[in-house]
Amino acid sequence: MGKRLVIAIDGPAASGKSTTAKSIAKLLGYTYIDTGAMYRSAALAAFRAKISFDDIDKLKDMLEHISISFQISADMQIVLLNGKDVSKRIRDADITKLSSEIATIPIVRHKMVKLQQQMGDEGGVVMDGRDIGTVVFPNADIKFFLTASTRVRALRRWKELPEGAVTVEQVEKDLVWRDKNDSSRSVGPLLKADDAIHVDTSGLSVQQQINQIYSQVKTKINSEDMT
Ligand code: C5P
Repeated sequence: MGKRLVIAIDGPAASGKSTTAKSIAKLLGYTYIDTGAMYRSAALAAFRAKISFDDIDKLKDMLEHISISFQISADMQIVLLNGKDVSKRIRDADITKLSSEIATIPIVRHKMVKLQQQMGDEGGVVMDGRDIGTVVFPNADIKFFLTASTRVRALRRWKELPEGAVTVEQVEKDLVWRDKNDSSRSVGPLLKADDAIHVDTSGLSVQQQINQIYSQVKTKINSEDMT
């Protein structure tokens, strides 16, 4: 068996990262690591412990004791926070907003980046997030940066929500807020690495998007096998 790569996929919310990353990981028999779920879990832990994001000492203590892991159950990946399944709760709107806020705090990023580097250090991973190609694995074997228009991204998220829950305009407003917050922080901002391949998924079907990325990954794997 050839070298098992580190594949980095970054981009804003709902740009198609997780759908693509999950499929590519499955096709290659690699591990998929959803780093957004890790920030979401950290936000949920702080929320439950009623820790203010200004209280760095308490956050530090929380981070020292927190355990975040992934498990496959019935072909679905579940996220465990201190051993308990939080996969659904971390997707709620309140935790989504808090995850973007907690992700601006340097000690939080430091801890998450360290965990992510440990999870991926043997290769055979597809990791998605905002700073994978720039900070977590600047030497990743192949990097992608996915984008899509704000409207397309809002529609994708809106369709996943229960009917009548919120308007597409509200979803779009929340996305724009998150994009701005994620792009403007000083540590690990949402940024395309210079050597990342840019893929605009606005006009692509899910299958087209997966095919496009998979074929570039296969080319890379074949070239690695020849060296
Ligand atoms: O990808 P997802 O939307 O689940 O990420 C939730 C939040 O976690 C993002 O809005 C972002 O602020 C943060 N995040 C991050 N760095 C990553 C992944 C996610 O800051 N690598």
